[in-house]
Formats: sequence, C-alpha cells, structure tokens
Amino acid sequence: MSFKGVNNVIRGNLNTVRLSVKRDDLLGKGISGNKFRKLKYNLCEVNRLKISKVLTFGGAYSNHIYAASFVKKLYGIDVIGVVRGEELKSKIHDNPTLLKAQENGMQFHFVTREEYRRRKDQAYINTLRKRFGCFYLLPEGGTNSLAIKGCEEILDTEDKKYDYVCCPVGTGGTMAGLINSSKENQEIIGFSALKGDFLKKDITQLTNKTNWQLQTDYHFGGYAKINRELVDFINEFKRDTGILLDPIYNGKMMFGIYDLIKKEYFPKNRSILAIHTGGLQAIEGMNKLLLKKGMPLINI
Ligand SMILES: *Cc1c(COP(=O)(O)O)cnc(C)c1O
Repeated sequence: MSFKGVNNVIRGNLNTVRLSVKRDDLLGKGISGNKFRKLKYNLCEVNRLKISKVLTFGGAYSNHIYAASFVKKLYGIDVIGVVRGEELKSKIHDNPTLLKAQENGMQFHFVTREEYRRRKDQAYINTLRKRFGCFYLLPEGGTNSLAIKGCEEILDTEDKKYDYVCCPVGTGGTMAGLINSSKENQEIIGFSALKGDFLKKDITQLTNKTNWQLQTDYHFGGYAKINRELVDFINEFKRDTGILLDPIYNGKMMFGIYDLIKKEYFPKNRSILAIHTGGLQAIEGMNKLLLKKGMPLINI
C-alpha cells in the first residue's frame, strides 16, 4: 500500500480500489473541519440579524462545542453551551475540550441527561429564552439547513470523478450536504458514529436524493466508545499514511472503509473518496480516558 500527497488529497491503492482522503481536517483552526462548513452560513445569518448571542448544545468532548467557543473568541459574539451531564460542572479542568471552550469565553449551562433530551422541544427552548434572553439557536452538532448548505461546498468539481464518497455521521448534516452536491452516479456512504437505526430516517428528512446508504456496523459500541482494536488501527493508519484520525468519527469511518475493502464490497477499479471531517481536538481528552483505563494511547 502506498500513499502520496496530491494537493490536500492523499491517493493510494488498496488491492484493486483507489482510496483518497480529502483533508478537510486541515481547513481552519479552532473552527475547523466540518464544523467550519456547518458554521459558515450560520455565522453570516447571525451577522445579518445583528444578534449578539448564540446558544447551542453538545456533549463532553463535542467538536461542535469546541468550534462554537471560537465564535466568542474570534468574533466577540456571546456563546452559551448547554452541555449534557451535570457532573461535568466540577470536572472542567479534567476535560481539555471544555477547558479550551471556557478559555475562549463560552458560558456553560450544564444540564442532566434528562433535561438534555428535551433540546428539541419548543417549550424547553422557550424556558432557555426566558433565562438567557434573545439568542440565535444552533441545534446540537450545528445541523440545520444553513449547515447543510455549507457542507454542500465540501465536494468540488475535481471530486466528481470518484465513484464513492465516504463520511462519518453524527447528526447527518454533513452527509446530507455531500448527498445534495453529489452526482447521480456517485454513491455517498455514511458511517454511523452512533448506535441505533434512527439516523437513516433523519438523513431521509434532510435530503431528497437517494444515492446514499448508511453503514451501521462500525460504531464500536456507540458514540465516543472505543476499544484497543480501534486505537491500534488509528495508530497504524497514522504510521502508514501520516494522517491522524480522531477516534470518535474518522477512525471509525476509516476502519469501516478498510473492512469493506477487505470484504470486497467495492467492485474492482472503483475510486473512493473519504472525507476527513477533522475533530482532532478530541484526541487529548480521549487519551486521558485511555490512560486511566491502562490502554494504549493514540499517537499524536
Ligand atoms: C460533528 C462531526 C461529525 C458529524 O457531523 P454531522 O453533520 O453531525 O453528521 C463528523 N466528524 C467530525 C470530526 C465531527 O466533529
């Protein structure tokens, strides 16, 4: 197997298929990867509406919370992060993602898992508006129609030649953007980072096109769950290609792509473009957990 860099894409041969990696992880700093794509038009809208406060939702290692905190740091817009897990309140210093977000000036509102589940309820949003005043609401993971519009810019004309485009899936916004901007003869394959079958329905609601499918066997037990096999894979991939993968999204996607190639899922001579959506900031927090468990770490 050999990889060589061409612009920001790595190309290589794996048996009989060609696998390229689109390095969206190299896009932007702080607000990077797909979170850059998803925030772009939302921030234009915040600016247009002249709103000075944004409220959003996320979990302990959320790349979205991390990215949103830079909206305060870079643009001076107040950002409230409604964070899942009340117990995190006293553990900010153990959590590199939350610590950085706090340094950037994000205001946290820690809530129980029960309360967090109401994040899409209009009545609940109204109580948040009473508490925090007027704000621009960014849903969990930043997914809304403006986010999808931003993700439609991931694929450029060069990328139309690939037979398959692969991406990791959290809420499905990124995948929906890729589907919308794909050509009819391309197939978009999403690799779910979460356990459960609800994502298929979610994605169906985010796009009108049908040239896509969801792989649901590579979540490793659920969101942010990880095992030794995955850590080893991420470290081997880094050693062989020089490309670092995050353990929550891209590590699982790439593991899945390799597994499908091994199983000869892809017909001969087809080309695959894997979108590296970034998320590398989460590695530091994950390594802390791995250290506690006495497991091998992800080599940065
Ligand atoms: C948020 C995120 C995803 C998931 O994107 P969705 O649009 O929510 O599906 C994938 N990869 C990375 C690195 C992310 O931060």
